[in-house]
Amino acid sequence: MTTIIDGQVVARATKERAAALVARVKDAGVDPGLAVVLVGDDPASLSYVRMKERDCADVGIRSFDHRLPADTTQDALDALIDACNADSSVHGILLQLPLPSHLDEESALARISAAKDVDGLHPENLGRLVRGLPGPRACTPWGVMAMLDHYGIDVSGKRAVVIGRSSIVGKPQALMLLERNATVTICHSRTVDLPAVCREADVIVAAVGRAKMVTREYVRPGAVVIDVGINRTEDGLVGDVDFADVSPVASAITPVPGGVGPMTRAMLVMNTALAAARVAGVEEA
Ligand code: NAD
Repeated sequence: MTTIIDGQVVARATKERAAALVARVKDAGVDPGLAVVLVGDDPASLSYVRMKERDCADVGIRSFDHRLPADTTQDALDALIDACNADSSVHGILLQLPLPSHLDEESALARISAAKDVDGLHPENLGRLVRGLPGPRACTPWGVMAMLDHYGIDVSGKRAVVIGRSSIVGKPQALMLLERNATVTICHSRTVDLPAVCREADVIVAAVGRAKMVTREYVRPGAVVIDVGINRTEDGLVGDVDFADVSPVASAITPVPGGVGPMTRAMLVMNTALAAARVAGVEEA
């Protein structure tokens, strides 16, 4: 029997943990707040931002909405980030990506105070992950780890293959699996004979952005398959994994939608709760 890993269930459990932590942070006299920065009026970004603000409200985190026009300058964005960094009622700063192409995403992300970087994408926080130090973790790969934990999937000593090497998903995912003692291989667009490399894996994490690329040919029977991909096709939203083809041979698999997607938002809420908890001197129970 294949286990279908339900992202909605794990996201709910994660938000309950975050809500409990927020309550303790409030008892300690700190009111957790998230600054949400959106540049432009891209409808998809707008809808993501609204969902993230709703998630915050669900667990008792205040959100502060900051909108800049699509033609805003780097100086104006920098000034807004500086103001949020300096504001003690703000514990986390979410800069919704992608930014319009005339703005420098790398410099904007690096300008956010590392302590308030609840997306876990600041170079210092990625460096902390490399060093094995605590700190905000990149939400999507951290959400994958939370799913594995929730379903009791121990990766220690297992062979894990991560397909994709982005700084948002692939690289931090590989480091998080390594931190849990998996033997990790990172694959990418230049990998030779990707299906053969993947067939070596006990755990596959696909973060590519190519609809239904991972077929049964990539999967050793009994492997765990985590699908990070989100691809809009004529058939609707699909992942990087061909779910119908792969699910009969996998021991556990995430669907799209309803898999990793809800986890990214839940981990943002958790990172914000933890950032406020550090300010309040409260430890997660
Ligand atoms: P990206 O484009 O930055 O990186 C894609 C990676 O895939 C690259 O490292 C590239 O080398 C690799 N790749 C491309 N073609 C390949 C091929 N044929 N074989 C092997 N590797 C190949 O993308 P990203 O930001 O890492 O996102 C990856 C996917 O995950 C996208 O579909 C994105 O929408 C999705 N995503 C989902 C969430 C979520 O919350 N579920 C969050 C972030 C990203």
